[in-house]
Amino acid sequence: MAEYAYTDKLRTKTITPEEALLERSQGVFRDYYCPNPNCDAILAPVKGDENKHPNPFFRARKTKKHVEGCDYKAYYDEEAANEAARTRNAGLFESDFSIEALLSRILSYVPPESTSDSQRGVSRSIEEDEKVIREKIISSTAKLYKYCKFRSISETLGERQIKEFVIDDETICDTYRYFIKEGTYMLNVPVLGMYYIPDKKIIGLKYTKDFLCGLSVDYRITLHFTSEEFFRDETSLLMKFRQTRSNLVFVSTVTKNFGDDKNYHCTIENPAQLYFVQSDELVPNDQEK
Ligand SMILES: [Zn+2]
Repeated sequence: MAEYAYTDKLRTKTITPEEALLERSQGVFRDYYCPNPNCDAILAPVKGDENKHPNPFFRARKTKKHVEGCDYKAYYDEEAANEAARTRNAGLFESDFSIEALLSRILSYVPPESTSDSQRGVSRSIEEDEKVIREKIISSTAKLYKYCKFRSISETLGERQIKEFVIDDETICDTYRYFIKEGTYMLNVPVLGMYYIPDKKIIGLKYTKDFLCGLSVDYRITLHFTSEEFFRDETSLLMKFRQTRSNLVFVSTVTKNFGDDKNYHCTIENPAQLYFVQSDELVPNDQEK
């Protein structure tokens, strides 16, 4: 990436943003030209910004922008960078949020290689792009959980009410009937009562709903893991929390098992789909291994 510009329209003499800033501090104000000879943009040096561009760079003047398709646009034009980031994150803003977009973002997430055990499972974040855009994006299971936690289930996020894509204690039933529907959801399920079947890479969770009339309904939710290693990691983590009031929160597509209304299936392909919510007072000492 060449962060430079020309001082003349014929493009014979280059200048770095550092040099241009120095000129300015000495009282020399002039136009700088885009390195692309087919572009009329007039540039100005910018000091840089801690998060986005730690080093000085050139930015096009608002009145003399880069031509469409100019290669230097992304580097010099904050608006263009913002626009590109908006496109990449479509469906993850508060205004346009969709659970399907979130699942697709999560499934494409490549975890960093050096993830320590203590980071795994407890807090998984996908931070990419957040430094570019100032507006909040909901790009991980943890973020969606935290967003919904303090809001009423009838509030909207994107175009839908929270209760339409969250399955938890509050949404799992209405007064007269109980339901989990097929579709893509964020599920928030107690770890208590979990079981696992190693040779099938399955973790089973049970959701027991007690009704005032004395009736009690058990939902079974099976998580099918696609990776052996990941299954092992998560199982040991779940075992550790099983006796506590911790919950497992995950984003997945939910389908019925055997057409049974109380028996559901989810596929877990990526560790980022999962997020543990620990009950602070009941979690065993984190240091013990
Ligand atoms: Zn240009």
